[in-house]
Amino acid sequence: MEFDLSHGGLVRWLREEDDARLEALFAAADAVRAAHVGNEVHRRGLIEISNHCVRRCAYCGIRSANADVARYRMEPDEIVACARQARDFGYGTVVLQSGEDRAHTTEWVAELVRRVAGESGLAVTLSLGERPLEDYAVWRRAGADRYLLRFETTDPVLFERIHPGYPGREPRLAILKRLRELGYEVGSGVMIGIPGQSWDSLARDLELFRELDLDMIGVGPYIPHPATPLGADGHPDFPAAPDGGQVPNSEAMTYKVLALTRLVRPDANIPSTTALATLNTEQGRELGLQRGANIVMPNLTPPAYRALYEIYPGKACISETAAQCALCLDGRIHAIGRVPGTGPGWRPGHEPGGA
Ligand code: SAH
Repeated sequence: MEFDLSHGGLVRWLREEDDARLEALFAAADAVRAAHVGNEVHRRGLIEISNHCVRRCAYCGIRSANADVARYRMEPDEIVACARQARDFGYGTVVLQSGEDRAHTTEWVAELVRRVAGESGLAVTLSLGERPLEDYAVWRRAGADRYLLRFETTDPVLFERIHPGYPGREPRLAILKRLRELGYEVGSGVMIGIPGQSWDSLARDLELFRELDLDMIGVGPYIPHPATPLGADGHPDFPAAPDGGQVPNSEAMTYKVLALTRLVRPDANIPSTTALATLNTEQGRELGLQRGANIVMPNLTPPAYRALYEIYPGKACISETAAQCALCLDGRIHAIGRVPGTGPGWRPGHEPGGA
């Protein structure tokens, strides 16, 4: 079957409802995945190091204005202990993620990166949001290998609506460009089905994945959080895209976007996200891995903190320990005939040192 990945072609695929055609799309994405990144499923251990946040992103449960959240900040020793655990489970990298926490000074993060890299020997991925450009340079020098920052949407009006700004902020695309120049592996992505997201803008998101030549791409369903403006039913500031143009935030939609992401960026590392597993706890992760994805992100955050990192409600695996997560995911990987990845899991052909 021909896969028209032009703008018009992408819009048509996003709107496709025919089961047979969708099965063909999924099979093509799976074949491209196997050909370009192989059968290994790399495990990125996620450590949610703080839920403090100065931002008011309209979709996110840990936004500063949500007074119902008990806030926590992990100590460096706790974080390093989690990273050691990741190494013992055989994971290749840890992802240190948080809200935009101003107590995380440039130097505090740099020292943490040095310790985590030094004491675990793992690749270090950061996902700490928008910072002054100089911070990314300092952290790269300290040993950070990868940075994840989703651009969330290519539609500038929608971006502003869901990210109330603050003065002096760097545009996300400028940040992504800078990260690339600094030699990070760069990850970005979007949520699927945010109110106001049209077919046209989601197709543009996919085109931007291709244009930015991203190393890692995370796409997951938008899950409404009741304590946020965007998640409150019928909030007048956040209308759906008009005239039947609103993208649904459904499981079915997520598979289409995952498969198209694989077709537009054949060798990218693409996770089967926890948000997807939240919509379908039984089969979501596996189906994601069979429709384009090659990465999973087992959670290493200590259970006491994990429940407090509630960016959206009902998060899959919320009460499991890191060891239970590791076992469960490895079982799921083997059950679909794939193998847990070994090593850091760089984008093929882009290993540091030019391997
Ligand atoms: N503060 C960091 C980490 C945010 S959490 C940052 O802003 O980059 C990582 C991702 O979770 C976000 O980029 C967003 O795409 C996703 N996310 C946040 N709230 C969500 C929700 N309600 N439903 C689905 N995904 C959400």
